[in-house]
Amino acid sequence: MRYVIMDLEWNNVYVKRLKGYINEIIEVGAVMLDESLTEINSFSCLVKSQLGRKLSARVEELTHLTNDELNSSGITFQNAMDQFSDWLQDPKDIIFMTWGNGDIRSLLDNYRFFMQTETIPFLHYYIDLQSYCQGVVASQTTNQVGLSAAAEKIGIDLSQFHNHRALDDSILAAECLRRTFDSEKIERYTDTCDDSFFRRLLFKTVLLTDLDDPKIDKALFRCRCDHCGKDMDLFSDWFSTKNGFRSVFVCHDCKIYKRCTIRFVELTGGMDIKISYRIAHELTEAENDKA
Ligand SMILES: [Zn+2]
Repeated sequence: MRYVIMDLEWNNVYVKRLKGYINEIIEVGAVMLDESLTEINSFSCLVKSQLGRKLSARVEELTHLTNDELNSSGITFQNAMDQFSDWLQDPKDIIFMTWGNGDIRSLLDNYRFFMQTETIPFLHYYIDLQSYCQGVVASQTTNQVGLSAAAEKIGIDLSQFHNHRALDDSILAAECLRRTFDSEKIERYTDTCDDSFFRRLLFKTVLLTDLDDPKIDKALFRCRCDHCGKDMDLFSDWFSTKNGFRSVFVCHDCKIYKRCTIRFVELTGGMDIKISYRIAHELTEAENDKA
């Protein structure tokens, strides 16, 4: 058995044809370990954007990659995957790992978009290293632990690693694996990548909790007064709750307050949006008292 720990960098791009966003892969990094977890090979390449979009400021800042660099040294996604498959040689004896399943979902999305396939051809066995390590770096919260936070908890000296470049992150994740290795547990966490594995991967139910998420339609963040029919003014700033985003609106003319909750759940093939309102009586009364 060999292990390949893979890390991808991607740029969130709106694609008209999909009427939605795709995480276009811009860098692939991976290390290959033998059975004794010794590094025997590494892979790194930049991927040129084919969707013609510039890197978001956030990605540029995070990865220190630039558009110029990607355009001059990047290759197409199809080429990158050809080279990567060659590098793997026979992938049937490889267990693949990524930190969290976000990278593998994005990879599958890129395969569907650029190669029109519903599977990742070289993937036979897979472990989500994040959930594998979760027990070891047990935290009180159910929040998923980031790679560097987990590495730090395991006792890895982070100063030797550059963060957020694909190869460096895969080397760091490989070190996490070495420090937590348990062959029985590896067996338990290994998924066989059959059709149902890929179907599960494609099925999304993600509650959006970041107000700056580009997938959120801000045009919905409004509220009409039931009494006079005019648009109400924002009374308190939007904030995230367990169930979505919440705010209070006011109609100054009618002295009516309304609490608005919007929930965005990203599903396979679309977005489920629920908006609910509640007249905020307690606020109305408080306002009346003041008057
Ligand atoms: Zn009104």
